[in-house]
Amino acid sequence: MLPRNYVLTFFKRNDILKTPRRFLNLLEYQSKNLLRKNAVAIQDFCMIDKNGSQELNNFNVKEYVIKAQILAGGRGKGHFNNGFKGGVHITQNRNEIEDIVNRMLGYKLITKQTPKDGIEVNKVMVAESVNITRETYVCILMDRQKNGPVIIASPAGGVDIEAVAEKTPHLLKTLPIDIFEGVTDKMADELADFLQFKGELKPKASEELKKLWKLFVAVDATQLEINPLVETDDNKVISVDAKLNFDDNAKYRQKEVFEMEDVSESDPRELEASKYNLNYIGMTGNIGCLVNGAGLAMATMDIIKLHGGDPANFLDVGGGVKEEQVKAAFKIITSDQSVKSVLVNVFGGIVNCVTIANGIVGALKTMTLKIPLIVRLEGTNAVEARKIISGSGLNIITADNLDDAARKAVKSI
Ligand code: GDP
Ligand code: MG
Repeated sequence: MLPRNYVLTFFKRNDILKTPRRFLNLLEYQSKNLLRKNAVAIQDFCMIDKNGSQELNNFNVKEYVIKAQILAGGRGKGHFNNGFKGGVHITQNRNEIEDIVNRMLGYKLITKQTPKDGIEVNKVMVAESVNITRETYVCILMDRQKNGPVIIASPAGGVDIEAVAEKTPHLLKTLPIDIFEGVTDKMADELADFLQFKGELKPKASEELKKLWKLFVAVDATQLEINPLVETDDNKVISVDAKLNFDDNAKYRQKEVFEMEDVSESDPRELEASKYNLNYIGMTGNIGCLVNGAGLAMATMDIIKLHGGDPANFLDVGGGVKEEQVKAAFKIITSDQSVKSVLVNVFGGIVNCVTIANGIVGALKTMTLKIPLIVRLEGTNAVEARKIISGSGLNIITADNLDDAARKAVKSI
């Protein structure tokens, strides 16, 4: 993964503010198919899942590298919940492949980047192994501070790029990219030098860097990380690992990319919310928040924190919301076991508070809520909405303003 400071500057605010729900993430083999299509040098590979693999029969190479596919890095140093060590294995013995694959498929791989229980492996890549003489690091991403794309490179690539960023930051070089000019020849050469590609390897590395940029643009990526970009003992420059994220706003013109999405690893609440056109973001605290608009969501979270509380999630119902969506929203929020109280904070502008009130009351008629519910409705039709709430006979704590609401939500736990 990327040096942490970059992840933060780019993703933190975005994760909260963006209107679309999330950035599409692909598995390594899917990313590599895109790399291959854009003429980036990669190893040949075939895929195995629980149904086996036809291609493997005709795949004969001197040495094989076997790689568990999950949406997280650090696989090489990871371990499986069956005790098997390493999500990346090398063997020259064809007969060993099956055994290694069987110890990966269906088991959970735990790495520095996965949840602590790991992620189940449903697909395994078998690729032609390359003899690596050196590993470097390259990443292109959209950077908020630079207001555009940047390319980050390090001659010290491989499995511990986080440590490089922390302990030897001089081994990382960041260059802003002019979005119209792209990675120029001059820039590519400068980076190839910095990455310590020498002799005939240097122009090859420059070419790969320019192709990676072209790919980044062609697929509307927000992040393209190659760790490692290696040189081999037969003088090749190859992308051995690839991680790509995409801009959700480009979905309409990147059909092929977005059709590859595998939702099996996604948060089911996020998926459920997206079905109803709602934006759900899960967090680690215990106050569930139903709000309208990203700005109010941020303010709500800040003020909860200010009063010593911690949000468990927030669900943004957005503008023209309907009663059905409010009901769905309410169910998604309360289905989270860690939620110990729910705060509804809506400032009706386009949103009609009566819709929200009816949605809440409607939802509560179909379920028993065992935790406190605090509601603050302000703006369009707020008076009428409050009447609906108080007339419902339900045990709902009402609040006059945001501060009061947050205070009550924190106190109610
Ligand atoms: P990650 O651990 O999830 O980042 O997975 P990578 O694909 O980056 O693999 C981890 C490490 O395994 C790499 O940094 C390499 O050192 C090693 N590795 C991966 N593929 C090959 C290969 O084809 N040949 C050799 N010799 N090593 C490899
Ligand atoms: Mg890697």
